[in-house]
Amino acid sequence: HALPGDAEAGGRRRQVEGALWSPVLPTPVAAPRLLAYSAEMADALGFDAATVASPAFAAVFSGNALTSGMTPYASNYGGHQFGHWAGQLGDGRAITLGEGVAADGRRWELQLKGAGPTPYSRTADGRAVLRSSVREFLCSEAMHHLGVPTTRALSLVGTGDAVVRDMFYDGNAAPEPGAIVCRVAPSFIRFGHFELPSARGDTALLRQLVDFTIARDFPHLTGEDEALYGDWFAEVCTRTAAMIAGWMRVGFVHGVMNTDNMSILGLTIDYGPYGWVDDYDPDWTPNTTDAQGRRYRFGWQPRVAHWNLGRLAQALAPLFGDVAPLQAGLDAYAATYAQLDRETIAAKLGLPECRDDDVERMQRLHGLLQAGEVDMTLCFRGLADLDAEAPSLDVVADAFYDAARRAQVQGEFDAWLADYAVRLRDAGESGDVRRARMHAANPRFVMRNYLAQQAIDRAEAGDPSGIVELLDVMRRPYDEQPGRDAFAGKRPDWARTKAGCSM
Ligand code: AMP
Ligand code: MG
Ligand code: MG
Repeated sequence: HALPGDAEAGGRRRQVEGALWSPVLPTPVAAPRLLAYSAEMADALGFDAATVASPAFAAVFSGNALTSGMTPYASNYGGHQFGHWAGQLGDGRAITLGEGVAADGRRWELQLKGAGPTPYSRTADGRAVLRSSVREFLCSEAMHHLGVPTTRALSLVGTGDAVVRDMFYDGNAAPEPGAIVCRVAPSFIRFGHFELPSARGDTALLRQLVDFTIARDFPHLTGEDEALYGDWFAEVCTRTAAMIAGWMRVGFVHGVMNTDNMSILGLTIDYGPYGWVDDYDPDWTPNTTDAQGRRYRFGWQPRVAHWNLGRLAQALAPLFGDVAPLQAGLDAYAATYAQLDRETIAAKLGLPECRDDDVERMQRLHGLLQAGEVDMTLCFRGLADLDAEAPSLDVVADAFYDAARRAQVQGEFDAWLADYAVRLRDAGESGDVRRARMHAANPRFVMRNYLAQQAIDRAEAGDPSGIVELLDVMRRPYDEQPGRDAFAGKRPDWARTKAGCSM
């Protein structure tokens, strides 16, 4: 076994060539304590409530104990970070415990994040602080319930150890409580897993990984050789398009769309400095380290995903005599995204179909939301209550952050609403049908930064119940949930920051 000590030999993490993974054991923690878990994920994996509550559960999901059959490992990948090839990266603080097949036949990989250094840790300690673990735990489950493809989270375990976070990440050198998330997905393979052997000219290893991935995770694809590879790449592209369309619909900004953070299954992965759009702004990014280039801003996500798929295509090119199928896959991304974007427009506006004038209608609305500093989530939710016979801006009154900005756009917004009301009357559906369609596409509850921060503050003070409560709200984001208005409000003034939280 490559234990953490080996990896640090020579003061520098090693390059691992000719291999896609390295065995590594989690580093034990002082005092594991289960802080929260996902009931749905526990159920899917066959853990009953008594098992989840047992000390053995916290021991296994903090890395202090292994069950029989677990052979933990960390994986080896590279990636393009902020537009540049970064060489070997790898699972620096993620250790896979193993895979399980659930009662329904679905296969899940279980991975601890923050369980200690691995051969791919580069300079950091392989640990995760409570706040970043809470953020991943809550947001990945919230994304699932929002209907956006994502990795899942089973558990959040406090370690009882203090962690000093790297200054590089957030400039905070004070010790903080540590925690470990057990995240769960059919596969954690990333674009960067293919890029690394390709960049090293190891085509045999690249081919082995592609064949493995197709056989395990894309068993419905039945072609052969290059035709099979082409079909597979096209499916990666269309799945990625679906993920991005989901992000744009709910106002999620990933913040670090490097190719090592792109799942081959089209799942949202690596919840770090992500954020949610409050007042609508396509140029907003929650990532403070991206403040200059703002490469990973909200409105750029569709094109960044295309660029990332281009890097994957480049990595796969050695397997193709003719790269036309790769270009076809990239084109399928663009076409699929364009189609899904139209479906999003229709759903968010409550229309049975998206006409070309609806695309323009949505663009004009976006312009008003930005100019008027209007909350994206509250606005689309509120629009569902519009009376098509007597449209009034009052239905979205709560969505404005600033009275002066509202006054500035009031006239134009009224005109937009009048035009929208004509369109709704044209569509000829009842208000109930429209409202139901809009409520299914426009969440009432999203994992706003300030909500997570409130739960984190309480957890850091020793009370994890805020995490449990917030997760419970996020399990039904499209339901009204009367009595839970406190979780559906716009960002309060005290939380007005242009940045999210880092790793
Ligand atoms: P990220 O920016 O989180 O995608 O991570 C980029 C690289 O840094 C990956 O190899 C990570 O595994 C590694 N890394 C990030 N955070 C840590 C950490 N706390 N300890 C060790 N490695 C890390
Ligand atoms: Mg990453
Ligand atoms: Mg990270």
